[in-house]
Amino acid sequence: MLSQRAYQDAQGIRDWIVQTRRELHRFPELMYEEVRTSHLVRKTLDELNIPYRYPLAETGVVAALGNGDGPCVALRADMDALPIHEETDVSFRSEHPGKMHACGHDCHTAMLLGAARLLKQREAEIRGTVKLIFQPAEEGGAGGQRMRNEGALNDPPVQRIFGLHVWPLIPTGTLGSRAGVFLAAAGEVELIVRGRGGHAAMPHLAIDPVSVAAKLVTELQTIVSRELDPLNSGVVSITSIHGGDAYNVIPPAVTLRGTVRALTMDVFRFVQQRVREIATQIGSAHRCEVDVRFPGNDYPPTVNDQVCWNVAKELAAQLTSPGNVHELPPVMGGEDFAFYTEEVPGCFVALGMRNEALGAVYNVHHPKFKADEDALPLGTAMHVAFAMQSLEDLR
Ligand SMILES: [Zn+2]
Ligand SMILES: [Zn+2]
Repeated sequence: MLSQRAYQDAQGIRDWIVQTRRELHRFPELMYEEVRTSHLVRKTLDELNIPYRYPLAETGVVAALGNGDGPCVALRADMDALPIHEETDVSFRSEHPGKMHACGHDCHTAMLLGAARLLKQREAEIRGTVKLIFQPAEEGGAGGQRMRNEGALNDPPVQRIFGLHVWPLIPTGTLGSRAGVFLAAAGEVELIVRGRGGHAAMPHLAIDPVSVAAKLVTELQTIVSRELDPLNSGVVSITSIHGGDAYNVIPPAVTLRGTVRALTMDVFRFVQQRVREIATQIGSAHRCEVDVRFPGNDYPPTVNDQVCWNVAKELAAQLTSPGNVHELPPVMGGEDFAFYTEEVPGCFVALGMRNEALGAVYNVHHPKFKADEDALPLGTAMHVAFAMQSLEDLR
């Protein structure tokens, strides 16, 4: 069977995938700075004799395999790391202080390179095109959007796309996802509350932005609890408050930062609008001015196509067992894979990575996040199997 063979082949190159991943892990790079990472990707593709386009979106690479005569399926990995200082005890710990592959994008890139190697071996069987998309800047930089805008999905046009994310919430050897919305629309919010600084003993001569900031933190919570349908989902989290340096001085301004999330763009825009209205009006009620900004790249929700999830689910069941494939509930995390699925049908799948014995129990974005490398061949096999099966289906 196609998927079983893919898994055997992936197990056969396990050490190579793991070594590639560890090399990437030692040298994490932040968004749009993935120079060394991108170089490793291109060097590997050169060695495998796989042609590619470069650069897209600064450091992005799009490779292509097959005879071009038939449908086109894309597989995607992201390459960037996070500004986190690694606190694990692994021997291949980050050598870039303050930077870490804490979201597993090193695993994603290594698994896709593994798939490149296996697909090259069976290139004669590929009737059509398999594109391999290595993108920068998933962590807030909307690298996927830039890749798309610079033609990653064109020439030939991609008809299906597949991506994986390491998932420490489910055990190694399992996979999960769902049809429809899997991950949320997500964006950043910044609120600057401007009052008038002064002596803390004479508040009547100042305009206090601190008490207004405190009101905003609690009042903004009423958007989700009092204004959204309880069966709808949204998040407003204020995660940062900066203002003032002394116990006896009222500062002139306070800056709040946080995130807004929802499962549909309509609800997302509604929550943003209400944040703006509530913040400015509470500000003016207390003589402060509040600047409301949504400065980052807003990510749309990641929506999985039903057919693509059915294909992935069936292949995952063949690779593991039906009991190891989960229908997961939506998650309020954001993911810029969403920019691809806005344009073409696709599926984003969670690859189990939890292993208590190994200490692989921390979630992604944690300084102690540890990947269970035993999951990597399964990810590579999923890429290969999804591509080969989809080319058959689309013929
Ligand atoms: Zn992340
Ligand atoms: Zn990630």
